[in-house]
Amino acid sequence: MPSVPSLTFNNGVSIPQLGFGVFLVPPPETAAAVSTALDAGYRHIDTAQGYQNEQGVGEAIARSGIPRDEIFITTKLVNGQHGYDRTMAAFEASTERLGIDVLDLFLIHWPLPMFDQYVDTWRAFEQLLADGRVSAIGVSNFEIAHLERLANETDITPAINQVELHPDFSQADLRAYHEAHGILTEAWGPLGQNQGLLDEPGLVAVAEKHGRTPAQVVLRWHIQVGNVVIPKSVTPSRIRENIDVFDFELDDADMKAFADLDVGRRLGPHPNEFDLV
Ligand code: NAD
Repeated sequence: MPSVPSLTFNNGVSIPQLGFGVFLVPPPETAAAVSTALDAGYRHIDTAQGYQNEQGVGEAIARSGIPRDEIFITTKLVNGQHGYDRTMAAFEASTERLGIDVLDLFLIHWPLPMFDQYVDTWRAFEQLLADGRVSAIGVSNFEIAHLERLANETDITPAINQVELHPDFSQADLRAYHEAHGILTEAWGPLGQNQGLLDEPGLVAVAEKHGRTPAQVVLRWHIQVGNVVIPKSVTPSRIRENIDVFDFELDDADMKAFADLDVGRRLGPHPNEFDLV
């Protein structure tokens, strides 16, 4: 089994640096995919209320027989449930679907600044943490301005910010802000969401040099720059391939080849504009 290192949040709780993402995994296929991931050695699963597959995640975890405290589970508040009371109710519903008492990490999925509710939502997150219902609280798709507003108006610094991040969109400014404020960086779309990144000649050359696949060297890059990373696949061989990245290292020339890919290519919506509820 690959040995996955952990990173430590600003509240002392640890998170396995590599996990299994289940965005767009169809609900009926989720339990099987998560079971394959657990068999391959993943101990960190990233789901969301909006993915509608929390139940499958819970089923696979229950079936696995792996002690609950050995598996790290993240879920995210769906956009339509912002606000203090709705957040509290939505959290309870998630724990029921996942079949757990205490969640490891709860994230605000998107800030939706146009609705101006994320500060109230964060106060509910702080209460859930104080109540011991969740071990750590964080955000997703937050820009520096949103993080600054939480810092000015609330008490607890997010443990982590999960954002779009891949070698051609490395989020250098946001990562520097996180580092200065004790916030971990988590990369979504880490493999570039199957939109050409893995065919980049510079990256393919690094993969060939190490006798690994392009996906593996990209995941290795995320590990070496210090990101938490949550690749998704439903293909068993790829699920295993994506965690098999802890027995080789990229050198300075490889890291330079990755830096050359960083052209600021955002694939998803800008968090200031995304308003889907
Ligand atoms: P990803 O970059 O992980 O891409 C997944 C796709 O890459 C797969 O569907 C497959 O086509 C391809 N792939 C996977 N393994 C491969 C391999 N070994 N070789 C070749 N191709 C391979 O993108 P993602 O799924 O969008 O992101 C990962 C996770 O991040 C999600 O599952 C989800 O948990 C999370 N996420 C969060 C947000 C957010 O707003 N917070 C948004 C998107 C995704």
